[in-house]
Amino acid sequence: MPYSANVLRRANGLLAQRRSAREAQNEELREKIYHQLPRVAELDRQLRRTMAELARAALGGGEDAARQVADIRRRNLELQNERADLLAGAGYPPDALDGKPLCAKCGDSGWVGGRMCDCLKILCTQEQMKELSQLLDLGEQSFDAFRLDYYSQELWPEWGCSPRENMEKVYKICRDYAQNFGRYYFDNLFLYGGTGLGKTFLSACIARTVSENGFSVVYDTANRVFRQFETVKFGGDEEETAQAKTETRRYLKCDLLILDDLGSEMTTAFVQSALYDLINTRLVGGKGTVISSNLTMDDARGRYSPQIASRLEGEYRALPFFGDDIRLLRKG
Ligand SMILES: [Zn+2]
Repeated sequence: MPYSANVLRRANGLLAQRRSAREAQNEELREKIYHQLPRVAELDRQLRRTMAELARAALGGGEDAARQVADIRRRNLELQNERADLLAGAGYPPDALDGKPLCAKCGDSGWVGGRMCDCLKILCTQEQMKELSQLLDLGEQSFDAFRLDYYSQELWPEWGCSPRENMEKVYKICRDYAQNFGRYYFDNLFLYGGTGLGKTFLSACIARTVSENGFSVVYDTANRVFRQFETVKFGGDEEETAQAKTETRRYLKCDLLILDDLGSEMTTAFVQSALYDLINTRLVGGKGTVISSNLTMDDARGRYSPQIASRLEGEYRALPFFGDDIRLLRKG
């Protein structure tokens, strides 16, 4: 699950902040308890001394050493008991000063044996949502907020059903796809139809749900995606090129890519090859892609190379959007 480098950096930053806040809090509590119970401070000093004595005695060896070690252990235990009693008397648990981490699983490091801990995953998801919401309005876009009643119930003869009936199906597939991301019948969706029919809204709903479930999600318009590939290939200034490389890596590797508005770009030979690379690399890598487009599959076949068209037709579940522009209704 490669989160983007930026997301990971910010999430790690938050974790570090959390660690230092916790340390500061522990230090404050220690001062408070030492002030309130000076004997605890004294006991802590003695306990540190007995630990040093224990180490020295253990190094000494021989029968005498074994007796010494047992002695020191006993004393150490007495000190610990006295300390626990004092703390309990003032209403603290015995481990009040042990500096417990917020996440017991990873000790607030964010990693457990080379795997990302859930606590860091949650932070990554939050940061990713922030990143996504710079491009997508995630404010109210959720499956729960989706309004089917914007779609007409009148029969559209060329489709054999009403826009509402169609959207019920489309909505359900998008929701199931998002909720079962990675385990659904289809890895890829092709949402097509005119503007103002809810393609971007549903894309945002998918982005939100998949992201909330801990996957890396990238949303971008086809125009911008191809511009980044162009910058990598033909170069801009150094900083631009470096940034474009990072972006294109995300397009290729994220768990879910939402490619919005395919067909709005100038379809040059370069775009053809970049699009094929993008679609094919993601298919081979087993990564999910949601494309939204004003083009029908027929249009796509006319516009793009046969290799691209056959990937789209063979590997994408096509979902039509038709009806009257619902943006007018939503404003009214
Ligand atoms: Zn953790």
